[in-house]
Amino acid sequence: MADYDVIVIGGGPGGYVCAIRCAQLGLKTACVEGRETLGGTCLNVGCIPSKALLHASELYHEAHDTFERMGLTFGASVGVDVTKLQAYKASTVESNTKGIEFLFKKNKVDWLKGWGRITAPGEVTVGDATHTAKNVVIASGSEVTPLRGVTIDEKSVVSSTGALELAEVPKRLVVIGAGVIGLELGSVYARLGAEVTVLEFLDQITPGMDLEICKALQKQLAKQGLTFVLGAAVQSAEPGEGGVRVAYRLRKDDSEASVDADVVLVATGRRPYVEGLGLDTLGVAMTERGQVKVDAHWRTSVPGIYAIGDATPGPMLAHKAEDEGMAVAETIAGQHGHVNYGVIPGVIYTSPEVASVGETEESLTAQGRAYKVGKFPFMGNARAKSYFMGDGFVKLLADKETDRVLGAHIIGPQAGELIAEVCVAMEFGAAAEDIARTCHAHPTCSEAIREAALACGEGAIHA
Ligand code: NAD
Repeated sequence: MADYDVIVIGGGPGGYVCAIRCAQLGLKTACVEGRETLGGTCLNVGCIPSKALLHASELYHEAHDTFERMGLTFGASVGVDVTKLQAYKASTVESNTKGIEFLFKKNKVDWLKGWGRITAPGEVTVGDATHTAKNVVIASGSEVTPLRGVTIDEKSVVSSTGALELAEVPKRLVVIGAGVIGLELGSVYARLGAEVTVLEFLDQITPGMDLEICKALQKQLAKQGLTFVLGAAVQSAEPGEGGVRVAYRLRKDDSEASVDADVVLVATGRRPYVEGLGLDTLGVAMTERGQVKVDAHWRTSVPGIYAIGDATPGPMLAHKAEDEGMAVAETIAGQHGHVNYGVIPGVIYTSPEVASVGETEESLTAQGRAYKVGKFPFMGNARAKSYFMGDGFVKLLADKETDRVLGAHIIGPQAGELIAEVCVAMEFGAAAEDIARTCHAHPTCSEAIREAALACGEGAIHA
């Protein structure tokens, strides 16, 4: 008899959700986690701490930028106490990681503390102890991809982990990579007063996002003081007397340039973290990119071993991992776990926020699929305008013939919340007209979604 029905390796959003779902479905479950706290990268050194800093820095920026315009005055000027800011961030993280511990107890999931290794199918060692299970789920997540010529010391050359822990606001911050991490953390420090330069290899920021949104976001961030150097291939980052010198080559003419910084943030991507799991010895098949190969039911090449989340192909997003965690639990329990990979939203928590789901104009053009665009500017939305957030827009893409919603791209207030409506609509196979005929509360930002849907038909009212 095995000790457990399921052992999940990794206590991040993929792993802990999987473990809880397994337990809810009546499976005896354990979750292996080597960190001091549960929650993985997301809760400890990713999404949650960064959102705390984004929230605080946004309010700070608002106080400077919009309070006066709204007639709000305050006696002393608003300042930043970085020590207290860090304490607030730490308490946000702690309440969330403790929350997972509570959920494990509530659902009777055993937390096996330590780093797990799969010694044989159905056998996991954690420290000196060996545990057996009918099924093992790898949910070991990802780590920062090293960048050639740049050594991360987490002091003056930092990854996102170090960038969340800075003891003071740097005067000059150079961000390598205009992806999600670079723009979110770049925004935090720009709002707190740093001079931020973003060096990006490609000729656009946030590759893969709808191009019109990328351009609008870059324009907005530039207005907030971020400097962008596109087409810049970073060669090295060397600490010296004037700070860290970041040397880069401009791809358009091969010229060389450099910029000095007090802190350099390396945000050029993440790679699967599978070290020490013993996958080589077991003969678990991997992709060329070092991801664990899985089939449509998250089964690896070795029977009884499954894999989900950042360790596997697909977008490295906490909610994608969570969905896979639930689906694999259901599959193991004999149900029909399913993830709709066509409806996984992506959100960038800058200000304005950016959110997108489904196809982009670029992907539809590449497929040769006829589509229509319904666009609505937040300038026509009373709620957004009232708090000076009229600059963005909603773009809804629908099939030209059937009117079925194929994708949505939003830049503007609460975009990350608004996108959920489109996700539900897409899951139900809705037409743009279905959204257009749904009553939306007034005044809310969600009316902009309805207006974009109306724009797919006879036209928006307020544009
Ligand atoms: P990313 O893949 O989003 O962006 C990396 C950027 O770095 C790319 O634009 C790339 O072109 C650029 N780059 C690569 N090499 C370079 C070089 N030598 N010089 C200059 N630029 C270079 O990676 P990330 O921002 O590090 O994020 C890692 C992962 O974490 C992503 O999958 C991301 O989706 C996820 N994440 C998501 C969120 C969110 O959902 N809000 C937040 C943080 C991280």
